Amino acid sequence: MKLPRSFLDEVERRCSPREECVALLFGIGGEVSSWVWLKNVARSAIEFKVDPEEFYSALAEAEARGAELLAIFHTHPGPPVPSDLDLKYMRLWRVVWIIANVYTLELAGWMATPWGIKPINVERI
Ligand SMILES: [Zn+2]
Repeated sequence: MKLPRSFLDEVERRCSPREECVALLFGIGGEVSSWVWLKNVARSAIEFKVDPEEFYSALAEAEARGAELLAIFHTHPGPPVPSDLDLKYMRLWRVVWIIANVYTLELAGWMATPWGIKPINVERI
């Protein structure tokens, strides 16, 4: 998965340890070319929840543009390792999940497969 520097610049600008940040990453063939930030309606530093209507309208808009959902991005106030809650939703949304440590911007990609959770390489471009 290729992640543009401009996305990471936005992460740096808008994400803070107060609240997990969430974005949907769209593109073609493993290269992220656009993204949509979603509100964290849980307003929590340790988990996120999105508004289903906001989520689906972002998906529909991207589909209309011919882009596909490549990854779900969110921040953690610590290591970019899926939480138990993340694992539950990763099994339902089998796209790549990219997690960033909000303090260090260390990134990791993960995906649920029928054989378990596997790491996905995330390359900054
Ligand atoms: Zn998480």
